[in-house]
Amino acid sequence: HAAFGAQLIAKPEVLPMYRMREKFANKFTYGHSLLIGGSYGKIGSIQLASKAALVSGCGMVSALVPECGYNVLQSSFPELMVQNSSNNKLLNEIQPKGHFNVIGIGCGMGTDEITQKAFESFIESNTLPLVIDADGLNCLSRNTELLSKLPEMSILTPHKAELERLIGSWTNDFEMLKKAKDFSTQYDCILVLKDAITITVYHKEVFINTTGNTALATAGSGDVLTGIITGLLAQGYDPLSACMFGVYLHGKTADIGLQDTGYQSFIASDIINYLPDAYMDLF
Ligand code: AMP
Ligand code: MG
Repeated sequence: HAAFGAQLIAKPEVLPMYRMREKFANKFTYGHSLLIGGSYGKIGSIQLASKAALVSGCGMVSALVPECGYNVLQSSFPELMVQNSSNNKLLNEIQPKGHFNVIGIGCGMGTDEITQKAFESFIESNTLPLVIDADGLNCLSRNTELLSKLPEMSILTPHKAELERLIGSWTNDFEMLKKAKDFSTQYDCILVLKDAITITVYHKEVFINTTGNTALATAGSGDVLTGIITGLLAQGYDPLSACMFGVYLHGKTADIGLQDTGYQSFIASDIINYLPDAYMDLF
């Protein structure tokens, strides 16, 4: 990591970021996240992201999904508020109603033309802080003019394939990191480069996470990370802390859960199940 000019992120680094709950708080103190995404057959991804935002400590969470996701989400966990677009299978319009302080967008969303258009007009008019993942990133890659319209310090959470669509290919890790730093600086965004070792890049700064293991190589794992980071941002963590602390907690759940589930049987829902343990392990 020294060669990369990077900082390792372990417990001593995240502890000072941790924000204690206030005795006289109410749900409004800890923000209202909106998770936007889902499509027919992929409602589960927004379910995972929304639940993760709640369990991360966000005060209130809403989801915006295509119509087919409405009943699924309303009946899957009662703490969630849900709204839907008019199309049954796809997000054909992205016009959230309500007061949110952070939006997480892209999980399970698809990149159908109708959704691409809806995403574009959403970005044109949005002023709220954003966490963009999955098909949200793919929509950005298909229309890179949108990048300069993102709010400052927007958080982008690509895995390798999504990153390549966004910044182009690279021949070695040094080049990849150089391109990521340039991209982050140009668009003033935070890049969370998800991989076996997750690296957060902000302008010239590089932070390497130290938690997590191969149990996280399972469907929905990234959706849960999106929910955690969105939830942390909504409850008042600054964007860079939300990324580093979120990635740290996400990895920690797998380090703790592993003792019960083994590598093979750990699934994305377990990241949420073990999130309380990851928090409690801090102290
Ligand atoms: P996604 O591909 O969007 O579902 O994201 C996968 C998530 O799991 C990311 O947060 C990765 O960093 C994490 N992950 C996947 N494989 C591993 C691994 N072998 N070791 C640690 N973390 C992993
Ligand atoms: Mg993903």
